Amino acid sequence: MELFEKLTQYDYEQLVFCQDKSAGLKAIIAIHDTTLGPALGGCRMWTYANEEEAITDALRLARGMTYKAAAAGLNLGGGKTVVIGNPRADKSEALFRALGRFIEGLHGRYITAEDVGTTVSDMDLIHQETRFVTGVSQAYGSSGNPSPMTALGVFRGLQAASKQVFGTDDLAGKTVAIQGLGSVGYGLGKHLHEVGAKLVVTDISKENVARAAEEFGAQVVDPDEIFSVKADVFAPCALGAIVNDQTIDQLKVQIIAGSANNQLAEERHGDRLHQMGILYAPDYVINAGGLINVADELEGYHADRARNKVESIYDIMLQLFAISKEHNIPTYKAADRLAESRIEKMKQVRSTFLPTSRSLLTHR
Ligand code: NAD
Repeated sequence: MELFEKLTQYDYEQLVFCQDKSAGLKAIIAIHDTTLGPALGGCRMWTYANEEEAITDALRLARGMTYKAAAAGLNLGGGKTVVIGNPRADKSEALFRALGRFIEGLHGRYITAEDVGTTVSDMDLIHQETRFVTGVSQAYGSSGNPSPMTALGVFRGLQAASKQVFGTDDLAGKTVAIQGLGSVGYGLGKHLHEVGAKLVVTDISKENVARAAEEFGAQVVDPDEIFSVKADVFAPCALGAIVNDQTIDQLKVQIIAGSANNQLAEERHGDRLHQMGILYAPDYVINAGGLINVADELEGYHADRARNKVESIYDIMLQLFAISKEHNIPTYKAADRLAESRIEKMKQVRSTFLPTSRSLLTHR
């Protein structure tokens, strides 16, 4: 593999390999872009088939975080850590503390957080070696479970989509089909029920659907029926790649707005939705509530401030819909454009020379 070729493809800044034999640590930290601030991104632990797969995943995920933070209006760049190993068998205090020391060695260019395969306890171990970690346990000043904030952000994004399509963000009487009633889907259902929306729901968990039927008076359908429900909005809150060749022609909605990551199986499905006149709320923008919440920890967590920022997903969504309309491009492309243009503008802003003690010394 030509590493520099990979790095130059999307202009990555840095790729760090961390190895500690006695701790059993093999980790890769990818830093994509720090124009806006330190690179923030979770620490994933996974049994990668080979090193190339781990590097590719770290790079892809780090770049995704640059766009997510930029579109959310955060002063953060994009990064990611992948730890090569089995999260069920290979974890130890030594492994996470060794990783913490490598992260500390980056002096704040990268800040880590929980991700697939890691937990709050793992973050607490990292925290013993570095300040540059978020999502630690509440005893260390954490913001707690991010899902309620993610659900709030999705609700506000869905309201913005309604404003764009129906001319009103009042969802009373609107029908929303929710796929997945876990932490976020249930929270979203609650917000929607409170404002008088009608809910059609599905989940593979019988308990979860029973709870939604009882608490929200939701109509329940089988998991494979959710795509063809006639509704105003489809809210995918379970799995990725659910807009695909099999499902796209079944859709009978005007809006897709949910929390799931990577909802489009391929970009061409986003192009297709645009042609079909279905408004797609780009996943990484609408589900940024959890990230916005955790990022607030970096300034000393303040719940009201975090909530206000999460609520601003409404305005961000309207901005990107406007870009999509003006340039007649699909919304997923408009989201990328919004993120890229913020980064470019901030590059310009930061080109103004500011004297610091170090720069004065070197220019003396
Ligand atoms: P979760 O695991 O709590 O809930 C997922 C739910 O989907 C579960 O109830 C599960 O039974 C159900 N499900 C799984 N397969 C299904 C299927 N085929 N059909 C119907 N239901 C199915 O997860 P979550 O935290 O609520 O996250 C939901 C989605 O949002 C995920 O894609 C996640 O990556 C994304 N997301 C979550 C957050 C967050 O803060 N939790 C932030 C950003 C993105």
